[in-house]
Amino acid sequence: MHNLLFVLSQALVFPQQPNIYLEVVGDTHSTKDWVFFAPHETEFVANQYVAKQVVDKGGVFIILRQDGKRLITLNVGGTKVKIDPNRMFTSHGRIESIKKLNPSIAEQKALVNKTEQLAETLSHFVLKALNGNNKPTALVAMHNNTNGYENDGKNGVGDVSIIRYQKKFSSGANYLIDVSHGSYDEDDLYFMTDREDFEAAKEQGWNVVLQNSEVAYDPSEDDGSLSVYAEMKGYRYINVEAERVNNGFGEDHLSVQTEMVDFVFSLLEERNQ
Ligand SMILES: [Zn+2]
Repeated sequence: MHNLLFVLSQALVFPQQPNIYLEVVGDTHSTKDWVFFAPHETEFVANQYVAKQVVDKGGVFIILRQDGKRLITLNVGGTKVKIDPNRMFTSHGRIESIKKLNPSIAEQKALVNKTEQLAETLSHFVLKALNGNNKPTALVAMHNNTNGYENDGKNGVGDVSIIRYQKKFSSGANYLIDVSHGSYDEDDLYFMTDREDFEAAKEQGWNVVLQNSEVAYDPSEDDGSLSVYAEMKGYRYINVEAERVNNGFGEDHLSVQTEMVDFVFSLLEERNQ
């Protein structure tokens, strides 16, 4: 019944709503303590490549799936409510994002609370799979973003771009502690939590952002994303962002993202010997 894309993968079905499931690629008993995770189903540019690398090099790759869309639709007592699977890892993030994505129910406290509870259950289901048998030391998130950024004067879309992060950083945004604009397209970048990883990526000329560890204690920076959760739990976290086609705009940066994945493996293997 579930549509698995990869050989050597298995489905873990979310018991509370069986049309949501995790596709798990690789050996869940692998001794390698890293896990790759793709929370947004439309952001699949490098999925095939990551699946192959994980089968070759160890660790697992987990893809959250429902029906091919970026957001997950929860069925809350018959009402369909959208949630962002990368805004579900903290209570504060869940509430904010549920209200933002579903303005028509934002004032219905009981429904928002019920949705928040189901989203929390889903986040625990995902985290249990990410944690596996032995808690991984590194979480690698795979994402794709749109060309440019909102109000960049070039018809850009979205909010991920090294130029935008640089502007945020220089105007005092507290969730960043360092930014390096290397020699790649503005949309191809790493978002990291580990200073050593940041310095290594910077040295190689990658675009890279280092998250401020204070996001773990600052409620105003708690957006419920996996990067904030990772900081709270002390995980080494790397987000691999690359451009994709969106509504015929932009392009899929597959070759750059595969190089980025290779570089991540070099960082992971260096500390896993
Ligand atoms: Zn994403």
